[in-house]
Amino acid sequence: SVRSSHQIRRDFFEFFREKKHIIVESAPVVPENDPTLLFINAGMNPFKPIFLGEEQGLKRSGKQWQRAANTQKCIRVSGKHNDLDEVGHDTYHHTLFEMLGNWSFGDYFKKEAIAWAWELLVDRWGLEPDRLYATVFEGDDRDGLPADEEAAGLWASETPIAKDHILKYGKADNFWEMGDTGPCGPCSEVHIDLRPDAERKKVDGATLVNQDDPRVMEIWNLVFIQFNRQKDGSLNPLPARHVDTGMGFERIVAVLQGKRSNYDTDIFTPLLDAISKRAGVAYGKAEQTDIAMRVVADHIRAVSFAVADGAAPSNEDRGYVIRRILRRASRYAWDRLNIREAFMAELVDVLAEQFADVFPELKEKKRHVTKVVTSEETSFLRTLDQGIAYFNQMTESMSGGQSVISGDDAFKLHDTYGFPIDLTELMARERGLKVDHERFHELMEEQKDRARKAGKFKSGEDDDQPDLSRHFSTSAGTGSEFTGYDERKST
Ligand code: ATP
Ligand code: MG
Ligand code: MG
Ligand code: MG
Repeated sequence: SVRSSHQIRRDFFEFFREKKHIIVESAPVVPENDPTLLFINAGMNPFKPIFLGEEQGLKRSGKQWQRAANTQKCIRVSGKHNDLDEVGHDTYHHTLFEMLGNWSFGDYFKKEAIAWAWELLVDRWGLEPDRLYATVFEGDDRDGLPADEEAAGLWASETPIAKDHILKYGKADNFWEMGDTGPCGPCSEVHIDLRPDAERKKVDGATLVNQDDPRVMEIWNLVFIQFNRQKDGSLNPLPARHVDTGMGFERIVAVLQGKRSNYDTDIFTPLLDAISKRAGVAYGKAEQTDIAMRVVADHIRAVSFAVADGAAPSNEDRGYVIRRILRRASRYAWDRLNIREAFMAELVDVLAEQFADVFPELKEKKRHVTKVVTSEETSFLRTLDQGIAYFNQMTESMSGGQSVISGDDAFKLHDTYGFPIDLTELMARERGLKVDHERFHELMEEQKDRARKAGKFKSGEDDDQPDLSRHFSTSAGTGSEFTGYDERKST
């Protein structure tokens, strides 16, 4: 029988409860004490003080815990390697997703983390061992980082995984660091090959791991925090070693429900049903409308939870990220689903019920979230059709050889019609065009200067990506990048 997503989340907690973990709530997706981070983008962010050695464990109900498990709401939407462009187009990257994690704060280490990951995936959930790959860090001489032979050995000794399913990768995928200095360590990931047997026989799954292939998907990242990086680049062993894991909840649910797409799971079908009903188009009918429905279903989750956790659409920082996501969804609904009035609040209802037990904050804040979403959507819709008309007219009048939308036009779309630059870029991309960024940013600067001179400068009025990106993860790799400090980690 097919397990519901609720059951799968409970299975995870139950499994780690049996292993003496305390189950803790998700922190709000808007960081509580971390001005350097726009949104929580990995399970480890809220536990940062423990990894920095400022706290010795997790305090709950008068006790200190060295083992915990949770599901953490994460948002990954901006920065150099953000997931936003993929969302809706692929079927396994979301703007907001749940990261299931088990944590050891100076307690157990690699051996248990690896053995338990296998036990849960294979013995408890019944995944076929044959389809699983484990990746370990191969080392990096130039950076003075040793290979993680220990993890490779433990996969071989603690699990029955085939030897040729233990694969070695470099820093980008298998080493995690919090910043230029500080806690860091190798990680070990589990990937799953979902292709039919016939295809698996033809092409070795090992060659498709870490290739952004949706059929061979990363599901779980186990990070082993064991070093303290010094200013001179050298590594000191940490006195207290930690385990930080992150499993993509929507992905494991898709796997366990036998679906090819996260959107075919019971996490997304209630939303897609509501959207499809409203649009009068069935999901699965055509790729273009499917993408639009997936975008709306995905984005409303990010917007709703972020607003419930205290973010508000605005022209700066986190508020502008929320505004951009909502406007992106709104444009898809308008343009591809022919929905011409505010409707997303209906989806907030769906979500609030769906997550009433896991994230009750949404139900509690439902009136507020509904109000914010409706008013933001309504105000954008007021200019959206004119903006789209302007965009169409402008691109139609471009001469044959011209492939770049001028910075002046992009600025006008921003200033007069409220198009975030990434929406203009998305629409340009759909037509095979580019946008003159440099000129756009010049005009934004000039506008800021004028406002400053007139004495009404609001900080962050500027929406430019590079500016926001400093807060974000360069994504990938480790499941737990804290990015307020450092952008070195690459995808
Ligand atoms: P990918 O390579 O697929 O982009 P990642 O390496 O960036 O994933 P990690 O930083 O290792 O991801 O995060 C831990 C886990 O969180 C991943 O193994 C994956 O299951 C899940 N995950 C990461 N990004 C997303 C996303 N945008 N949407 C849904 N799940 C995600
Ligand atoms: Mg990634
Ligand atoms: Mg990873
Ligand atoms: Mg990865």
